[in-house]
Amino acid sequence: MRIMSKKCIICNAEAGYMIKDTSDYYCGECAEEHFGDITLLVKMEAEAQKLKELFRDQIASPDENEGGRDGSN
Ligand SMILES: [Zn+2]
Repeated sequence: MRIMSKKCIICNAEAGYMIKDTSDYYCGECAEEHFGDITLLVKMEAEAQKLKELFRDQIASPDENEGGRDGSN
């Protein structure tokens, strides 16, 4: 399975951000221009990272084990 790269809906550049709960994608520039504050948007990198971790979990590679994070919430 491969994660498709999304395109900015304005300029068609590679999108790095999406609006939460929608399928509107923006590149960093358009996001900033459009919203003025990209913190309103979800960084797709983070989403992709979540997926990667999911997959890595399933594969359970013994190579690398990142267990040093503070996970107290
Ligand atoms: Zn754009």
